[in-house]
Amino acid sequence: MLNIVVFGAPGSGKGTQSDAIKSHFNLFHISTGDVLRQEIALDTETGRIAKKYIDGGQLVPDDIIIEVLAHVLDKLDHQDGVIFDGFPRTVVQAEALDRMLEKRGQRVDALVDLQVPEELLVERVLNRSKVSGRSDDNEEAVRQRLEVYKSRTIPVMEYYRAMGKHIPINGVGDINEISQGIISALEQKLNRKV
Ligand code: ADP
Repeated sequence: MLNIVVFGAPGSGKGTQSDAIKSHFNLFHISTGDVLRQEIALDTETGRIAKKYIDGGQLVPDDIIIEVLAHVLDKLDHQDGVIFDGFPRTVVQAEALDRMLEKRGQRVDALVDLQVPEELLVERVLNRSKVSGRSDDNEEAVRQRLEVYKSRTIPVMEYYRAMGKHIPINGVGDINEISQGIISALEQKLNRKV
């Protein structure tokens, strides 16, 4: 089993790259942002709570998102592992994920960190807003999301870096070239371990 965290700021390409690399490793792609947007579309209680945080560019509280993630994981069985996209976003979530995987005899194998300069991130998200229809893809919310990323999510990268699991990737350039770079960096890291 292989568990990869795809990590990066809003607009860094987590969703795009997760989609591009999942078939290579036969992984199931879990995007907590997509799961929450689905809850909102279905107008569930979780969705109604989450919407307030998402629209303000804030994180959904840890206890809620950890429960959502645990529920998705419980339903999984058939794949070779998981790509976690947009989770964990706080150290509390990282610790919870480690515990959940440990119970299954698994662990996070690597954190792929998509690095993109801040001004390009804002530009990408504002461009995406023309087609995404996402209520949080506006300048005010994206600036807020970036602040939250720096203060609460960067420590997650440091948490896994201390365990030797951090793989920095330049997230600027041709999408396919970035995917190939991620795949070969992961292959290298995983081969070294066995
Ligand atoms: P992006 O990475 O571009 O911000 P996502 O779809 O991953 O897009 O997340 C959108 C929003 O969903 C976040 O700003 C946050 O409000 C909420 N969200 C997603 N994942 C989490 C998480 N792990 N913890 C808390 N909130 C989350």
